[in-house]
Amino acid sequence: MGEEKKYNRRDFLATGARFSLAFGVLGLAGIAAQNSRAGGTVWQIDPFKCTQCGRCATDCVLSESAVKCVHAYDLCGYCDLCGGYFKPGVTDLNTGAENQLCPTAAIERKFIEEPYFEYIINEELCIGCGKCVKGCTSFGNGSLHLQIRHDLCDNCNECAIARVCPSDAIRRVQANDPYLIKGDFTASEKTTWTNKI
Ligand code: SF4
Ligand code: SF4
Ligand code: SF4
Repeated sequence: MGEEKKYNRRDFLATGARFSLAFGVLGLAGIAAQNSRAGGTVWQIDPFKCTQCGRCATDCVLSESAVKCVHAYDLCGYCDLCGGYFKPGVTDLNTGAENQLCPTAAIERKFIEEPYFEYIINEELCIGCGKCVKGCTSFGNGSLHLQIRHDLCDNCNECAIARVCPSDAIRRVQANDPYLIKGDFTASEKTTWTNKI
């Protein structure tokens, strides 16, 4: 299979995975800061309260939801049977469209080494439906989660999704620390990311 280009998992986990999320958050934080009002607050999803009801995909005022899936690579088990990637009950663990849980094929599955795979979100395709998050939470480490992307969000006075969220998972956070990312990220790392804006 073309996807089965070999990577050394130890090297991968030590460098690539960590940096991929760090740079991702750096980008998100930088864009958020540009959009935010000084000293203000913005809307964000608490990933520990979100129950993946699907309304993040349908109730944003924007035609394309400002909510996207984020992957905390340091929490990921790199499972060959990923609950966020595969539909429940699949028998063939391959990238066939019929096996994929994501309705927009926004998750790329890349072989690392037996039996480990990396799952990468294509943000252009992600609609924030949360199906992969539910799958990863029910059968996996819960490393996939939803966040409001502040390069997309209009920061409405009252977030239309928060109004209908059944889990009270969306709240205001400080604009200079606009993400509630899961994973083992220390306060100093977050501060570093913020200071680089
Ligand atoms: S509306 Fe609330 S519970 Fe539903 S997916 Fe969004 S944050 Fe999660
Ligand atoms: S399943 Fe939904 S939330 Fe997950 S990557 Fe696909 S479109 Fe995004
Ligand atoms: S604040 Fe407005 S633009 Fe941002 S996620 Fe909520 S509804 Fe969408």
